[in-house]
Amino acid sequence: MSLNVHHLNCGTMCPACARLINGKGGWLDPAQLVCHVLLIETPKDGLVLVDTGIGTHDIETPSRLGQPFLALTRPLLDHHETALAQVERLGFSANDVRHIIVTHLDLDHAGGLPDFPLAQVHVFAPEFNSAMNPTWRERARYLPSQWAHSPRWVQHDGGGENWYGFRNLRPIPGLTEDILMVPLVGHTRGHCGVAVRTDTGWIMHCGDAYFFHGQMNPAHPHSTLGMNIFERMVQMDAAQRIHNQERLLDLVRQHGNEVQLFCAHDVVEFRRYT
Ligand SMILES: [Zn+2]
Repeated sequence: MSLNVHHLNCGTMCPACARLINGKGGWLDPAQLVCHVLLIETPKDGLVLVDTGIGTHDIETPSRLGQPFLALTRPLLDHHETALAQVERLGFSANDVRHIIVTHLDLDHAGGLPDFPLAQVHVFAPEFNSAMNPTWRERARYLPSQWAHSPRWVQHDGGGENWYGFRNLRPIPGLTEDILMVPLVGHTRGHCGVAVRTDTGWIMHCGDAYFFHGQMNPAHPHSTLGMNIFERMVQMDAAQRIHNQERLLDLVRQHGNEVQLFCAHDVVEFRRYT
């Protein structure tokens, strides 16, 4: 079976200091980050979104994203970048999106959920529990207003088969071999990657399991000072995050010709596909 995959940027963010964040550009230039979203056309199960970026409701009422997020990431908030607008530009409608798989429920990943109210929303069970019962530290990252429409949640846990040494869950019954959720906990308590089999091999959306393309450089893993600090600031479990990053790097080293990784916010990785 072949899946047609579109790579969408559903939320440009321009934090201060390109040099510090992107590792190049001027100290006074704005950096550029994206919200990398996948739109997958399937033969029998309609459209599948992996993450949703920033949604129309967030753009209409930016204050709901909270001052800290707005001040730190300085999002563009352009309607044309929403998953909904891009789905429609490709000639589909919101109701064609039957499934959404979220890497996690942080506000820059779940913003588009209300734009696709009929979709089943697949989430790793520990992530669902964190978002519904956040600790004091987690309150700023999860926005209940992004799921006030009562999405059709489908929680996944248990079972799990082996995929290149990673446990994986198979969220969509008709696509069990082709779309996998791969638990990569650390950034949040229930964070997942999403692996998709394409004509040219596997790709894996690693969400926020890492933040900078250099971190997956097999010969010389490296990050930028800004991303390094940010990554630690927002992690829920440092040991797990570091362990899972090492596993991902091993995956690239051993199977980089079969599996291509990218994370949610890196603009260099996004441009590889667009
Ligand atoms: Zn994120």
